[in-house]
Amino acid sequence: MGEINQNAVEKYLEENPAFAKEYFDKKLRVEVLGEIFKNSRVPVQASMSLPELTQVEESAVCLELLWSVQEEGSSAELTAHKVLQRMAQLLQADRCSMFICRSRNGTPEMASKLLDITPTSKFEDNFVVPDKEVVFPLDVGIVGWAAHTKKPLNVPDVKKNNHFSDFMDKQTGYVTKNLLAAPVVMGKEVLAVLVAVNKVNASEFSKQDEEVFTKYLNFVSVILKLHHTNYLYNIESRRSQILMWSANKVFEELTDVERQFHKALYTIRTYLNCERYSIGLLDMTKEKEFYDEWPIKLGEVEPYKGPKTPDGREVIFYKVIDYILHGKEEIKVIPTPPADHWTFVSGLPTYVAENGFICNMLNAPADEYFTFQTLTQFLGWSLLNTDTYEKMNKLENRKDIAQEMLMNHTKATPDEIKSILKFKEKLNIDSIEDCEEKQLVKILKEDLPDPQAVELYEFRFSDFPITEHELIKCGLRMFFEINVVEKFKVPVEVLTRWMYTVRKGYRAVTYHNWRHGFNVGQTMFTLLMTGRLKKYYTDLEAFAMLAAAFCHDIDHRGTNNLYQMKSTSPLARLHGSSILERHHLEYSKTLLKDESLNIFQNLNKRQYETVIHLFEVAIIATDLALYFKKRTMFQKIVDACEQMQTEEEAIKYVTIDPTKKEIIMAMMMTACDLSAITKPWEVQSQVALLVANEFWEQGDLERTVLQQQPIPMMDRNKKDELPKLQVGFIDFVCTFVYKEFSRFHKEITPMLNGLQNNRVEWKSLADEYDAKMKEIEEEMKKQEEGEVVVAQVAEDSGGGGVDDKKSKTCLML
Ligand SMILES: [Zn+2]
Repeated sequence: MGEINQNAVEKYLEENPAFAKEYFDKKLRVEVLGEIFKNSRVPVQASMSLPELTQVEESAVCLELLWSVQEEGSSAELTAHKVLQRMAQLLQADRCSMFICRSRNGTPEMASKLLDITPTSKFEDNFVVPDKEVVFPLDVGIVGWAAHTKKPLNVPDVKKNNHFSDFMDKQTGYVTKNLLAAPVVMGKEVLAVLVAVNKVNASEFSKQDEEVFTKYLNFVSVILKLHHTNYLYNIESRRSQILMWSANKVFEELTDVERQFHKALYTIRTYLNCERYSIGLLDMTKEKEFYDEWPIKLGEVEPYKGPKTPDGREVIFYKVIDYILHGKEEIKVIPTPPADHWTFVSGLPTYVAENGFICNMLNAPADEYFTFQTLTQFLGWSLLNTDTYEKMNKLENRKDIAQEMLMNHTKATPDEIKSILKFKEKLNIDSIEDCEEKQLVKILKEDLPDPQAVELYEFRFSDFPITEHELIKCGLRMFFEINVVEKFKVPVEVLTRWMYTVRKGYRAVTYHNWRHGFNVGQTMFTLLMTGRLKKYYTDLEAFAMLAAAFCHDIDHRGTNNLYQMKSTSPLARLHGSSILERHHLEYSKTLLKDESLNIFQNLNKRQYETVIHLFEVAIIATDLALYFKKRTMFQKIVDACEQMQTEEEAIKYVTIDPTKKEIIMAMMMTACDLSAITKPWEVQSQVALLVANEFWEQGDLERTVLQQQPIPMMDRNKKDELPKLQVGFIDFVCTFVYKEFSRFHKEITPMLNGLQNNRVEWKSLADEYDAKMKEIEEEMKKQEEGEVVVAQVAEDSGGGGVDDKKSKTCLML
């Protein structure tokens, strides 16, 4: 075959047109068109509209757009720009625009992103930089309406459409006549709205234009969804990464509520998209603990004068969580942050706390409160929001429900009440409702023990000869003795049910059981009556103090606060400090919320609030950790009273100041709680063993459950050290309490005498033990020496016979 030259080919094709067409269509047309559109970047003729494109040509357009979607490194806006250019061309629209939809503080808004695109306009001229954006809410204009309804719109005449707003036209001088608008939707979310404005050579967009518009919208849709998914993925992966990371380190340093908050902030972080932020954890407790208020109320400490929150709390950031999210990601927890911590220097956190605002610091450097310049972008600062609060409240509710369920098992049954309040037996009435209150009071009192017979008024009272059931009656007797039952209209059925339920609320642990609860109540009664401390208190206050004393250790688990913390018990997660005491208090308050148990049901609101407040102070005060806080304050009151000339003067000095009354009451609770140490030796020696046994049981748990070595006090292998520990306890804790009370009221001296007597007993046991130990030690020493000598003798004597005389002499030395 000869060489094929161009002429020959041309000649062949001209002679065979059918083949030429078939070949071109099959082989070349797509490539050629594709080349034209892709590489030549020849601006397509403005007049060229869709009907003029063949199918292949349209495929080429689509192909081109697909290529740009795939193009790496190209921004979503750039690709969308290309699509909108083609749209403007194919629809013969004067211009096209894209508005994005986003959310600011939870409110959706529209923002101009690409404006006035024509088939030939440049991206740089159409792209709107962030600070030039036109931003408007969804209820403005047709664009907003399309986003709101999530439906496309063809508006032949904007003047006749009541959603149209001419605010954009007014800004630009452009006149919008007709338009097509359609939203880009992903799931329930609107990502953007595309608009084609003013049909060229026609008065409106046609039905066919609508179809084209929808068709090409899909490209933008793909681009934006891809971009958005990527964005979400990045946030999500980063978030889970950090959350996982923080689960190990940060969580250790946060309490439950703070963890909740830390998690919640992470959701907000999606919207903040900032580089660094901090959370200042404001002390959310409504007020200071009562024991921290005392020194201020007594005038010993200057009151707080700094900024306060809208609801009157002091602005104390007790902890800061610092999130540094750019570069090497880091989360730091700073407990009790210093005032010059970077987040505080700006003054912003305090400002926010004071005013309760959620500050959006988008324009941080411009804000007059913002004095800290080194932040790269902005600082998002926010306080615990209502949502978080609600979550916490739900937690609170769950707790209540659990307690309610528990209460059904605890609450005294009708039969149990009948075992004390014998209306059936004595009145021959079947239902208690049919009994008169007076009758009930009478039959109840008849059955209650005689105070003298059981020594109810004595500091030396012992519960040993009395059954636990009988102790319930003794408890009831005391309320009658202080004359509060009739005075405060306590229905005896309710009183009986409450007293019985309190008894049942105590668990059968070794020491912190109902007997201990009762003893604290009995000592409170004796301090008030025999100790004559009642003179500082009203009948209502005495009523509350006695009731609180009975309840003070309710539902105790036989392990102390430290154990709750170490074993991360649910209680420890619920309460930050005075864990068990707060639980006893909550439990007692829960009982009172049940009207059939509410012995204070006939009090007015103010009286009831007084009672609840006294419950709080009295029960929390039994936390021995707080004892050292009140010691000197109590001593000062005793000192002052000692100087008074008359009893009236002292009474006035105390009663005029509720704080002094609270301090005395708190110290009375301690005196009651520790009263076993003042009892006659036969009682004290046995009770001390109960206490010790409960401690040893906890020590066992620490060894087995926590795999920790218990402290000597809780170590049953060191039980011989008990007398020594008792002496130490008496010297360092108890002596002060009973010495001061005896100085305050000489009637209380029997307690101090009892204490000092017990100290003598424990000391002699401790000495005995020491002597025994010393003896053993010396014995061992002697033995050791003896062994050495024997060994030497054996050596000296060599292999021959042992010289008896010699060895004896040596041993004696
Ligand atoms: Zn107690």
